[in-house]
Amino acid sequence: MYQKLFIPGPTHVRQKILDAQAEPMIGHRSKAYADLQAEVTPKLQKLLYTEQPVFLFTNSGTGVMEGSIRQAVRPGKKALVTVCGAFSDRWHKIAVANGVPADRVDVPWGQAITPALVMAALEQGDYDAVTVTYNETSTGVLNPLKEIAAAVREKYPDILILVDAVSAMAGAKVEFDAWDLDVVLSSSQKCFALPPGLAVAAVSERALKRAEAVPNRGYYFDFLNFLKYYKRNQTPATPAISLIRALNVQMDDILAEGLEARWARHQQMAELVHAWVRKYWDFFADPNYLSPTVTAVKNTRGISVVELNKALAERGAVISNGYGKLKEQSFRIAHMGDLTPDDIRWLLDQISDILGLA
Ligand code: PMP
Repeated sequence: MYQKLFIPGPTHVRQKILDAQAEPMIGHRSKAYADLQAEVTPKLQKLLYTEQPVFLFTNSGTGVMEGSIRQAVRPGKKALVTVCGAFSDRWHKIAVANGVPADRVDVPWGQAITPALVMAALEQGDYDAVTVTYNETSTGVLNPLKEIAAAVREKYPDILILVDAVSAMAGAKVEFDAWDLDVVLSSSQKCFALPPGLAVAAVSERALKRAEAVPNRGYYFDFLNFLKYYKRNQTPATPAISLIRALNVQMDDILAEGLEARWARHQQMAELVHAWVRKYWDFFADPNYLSPTVTAVKNTRGISVVELNKALAERGAVISNGYGKLKEQSFRIAHMGDLTPDDIRWLLDQISDILGLA
């Protein structure tokens, strides 16, 4: 028996999307492939409210985090990494692993990064880039990206704003051009509700210009090489063609649903979970910054999350334990992608029934 995934990635993938991958293979230098990329790209630009390039990468989101931070910082400059959980911390690990000098500004897990905090930290150094994790999946915090970007832009027109939107893109609004961002990246297995293996990133002209000044951009993720191929609707290396086909079909459904309706559905699902949490538990995250795509629940009842998941599995569902050090202290319910409010109501009823919550 398969379980429906209420975990923050991979998420539930509809049969229609699985089927879209099963077409005969084509060459990635063929006209058929270029036509496919030319078809899907404007749909992604609509999703991100941008007219700037949106690149397709054959890897998960972490690869693009690595690619973008090393191309954003010129020799002698630094990155500022904002950390509020496990995934925002990953940016720092990546910077260190790539020899990119990076300072960090930390808040306790569960808290949000604020514009004031970022601005105070930027005062102190010679920064070329700042990283922001829009939706911190480990804690269920949605950081105030628009406000952070506005504050940074007002004072520092040249600092690149690199955004991990892995668990937000296609589930929460990101206005790439209006918010004046530089890299916004995501993975296929979250709110896009596709299988894993593909990443998507909008890259600004400012970021491309910056890359020209970075001698060691790396090879696989070199944005300037990506741009060269993008202009002919190709990627530098062989792309995950089957996944791109699935993405193309999924983007039609996303646009048919309507972007505002999609954000509203995610918010509605989140609010169903929030009401249930208020009744029986507590939030792990600061309630002022609750994520529309995943909720981290503080385990105030001291239940065994492992046992709960075993019982849920028999009923055909799976949720996530707390991330890393938060295991058993918290658990996470994802409400992203192609799940529906009815799915969420059903899940909450199952958990309440298993635990005897009344
Ligand atoms: N950032 C965030 C916020 C995430 O939730 C995840 C995946 N859980 C990642 C980065 C890593 O993405 P991937 O596994 O696609 O490399």
